[in-house]
Amino acid sequence: MALIVQKYGGTSVGSPERISAVAEKVARMRKAGDDLVIVVSAMSGETDRLIKLAKAIHSDPSPRELDVLLATGEQTTIALLSMALEKIGCPARSYTGFQVHIRTDNVYGKARILDIDESRVREDLKKGRVVVIAGFQGADQDGNITTLGRGGSDTTGVAMAAALKADECQIYTDVDGVYTTDPRIVPEARRLDRITFEEMLELASLGSKVLQIRSVEFAGKYRVPLRVLSSFEDGPGTLITYEENEMEAPLISGIAFNRDEAKLTLRGVPDKPGIAAQILGEIGKANINVDMIVQNVAADDTTDFTFTVHRGEYKKAREVLARVAQDLKAREVNGDDKIVKISIVGVGMRSHAGIASQMFKTLADEGINIQMISTSEIKVSVVVEEKYLELGVRALHTAFGLEKTSQSTV
Ligand code: ASP
Ligand code: MG
Repeated sequence: MALIVQKYGGTSVGSPERISAVAEKVARMRKAGDDLVIVVSAMSGETDRLIKLAKAIHSDPSPRELDVLLATGEQTTIALLSMALEKIGCPARSYTGFQVHIRTDNVYGKARILDIDESRVREDLKKGRVVVIAGFQGADQDGNITTLGRGGSDTTGVAMAAALKADECQIYTDVDGVYTTDPRIVPEARRLDRITFEEMLELASLGSKVLQIRSVEFAGKYRVPLRVLSSFEDGPGTLITYEENEMEAPLISGIAFNRDEAKLTLRGVPDKPGIAAQILGEIGKANINVDMIVQNVAADDTTDFTFTVHRGEYKKAREVLARVAQDLKAREVNGDDKIVKISIVGVGMRSHAGIASQMFKTLADEGINIQMISTSEIKVSVVVEEKYLELGVRALHTAFGLEKTSQSTV
């Protein structure tokens, strides 16, 4: 008998019919003998609806109250799913994050899980119940409700699986696995049977929306066996693996892109120790995450400093930078929020030279100018003008033969 944690995303529980369908599936598995813990998201569109509601009241609502509000989305789903389970004779109990002691820090809107006391869940499992838990939420040590950031139910699922040492954590979503790239952009994109944890981490952090990045970090830390599957059709999905065979690995496993990027440049800052620390220190203090960073070689005794941030934080970052520019007597602040990042990812890159130049040549052949580049052992990212996103991704998908590579089956 296996202990399985399943997470169902918003579209999978988007209507009473869909919730009932999930209940049927869960009840069937329960009957077959598995212990099941089900983590659910809010019904699709609900979190957005709640955010809009809050904004209709206050343009800048208190983060604490916003979390109290947003947590209700998931609370609705757990109750409905438990009712659906009981209706078909499957004993179930629903719990909010607070009730199952998902303790987080107190950073509202993007709290991190610190620990979980899973004893209550175990008791229910022992009694033969299916346990249904609200994703995306927890409480800080003073009992304030917190949420884990958009897509945070994935993290709840993985964290629950880690706490319970589950045999598998299954993330049910509206796609049937992890793809070589977004099929909406490249129709020839293929589902991967398996992907290494490291690649998944890169893809998630580079903007692939399949899994919330924190859930992947969590899975890696506790080596949670993780699988992404479709809640609408049967299939093996994509298994996230912790062992890799570099020799057999395809050069590139996937192409990620991120439209939520913006670029900022501080021109003519003094070229002396401490400048980068000062600029990024101020940005960090404003709680803005920085992604790519480029500092030019100094011409005269000043230099240019460029970095990218989330597009949603562009305005705030520009304001901070305007202040820093004054302090540093920098020449000017520039910005561009019409950029995107495209990345190729693959552990196979480690043992092959020339992948980056192949990428650059492919983009050059399409007449796409590269504005920034960053690399790691298993990825190459470029920043390009937003209008080249589709063209760039398609060209790379073809250039690296991603539609053809045969995959080993699970
Ligand atoms: N309901 C939250 C969101 O829409 C969390 C989740 O679905 O994972 O982001
Ligand atoms: Mg999601």
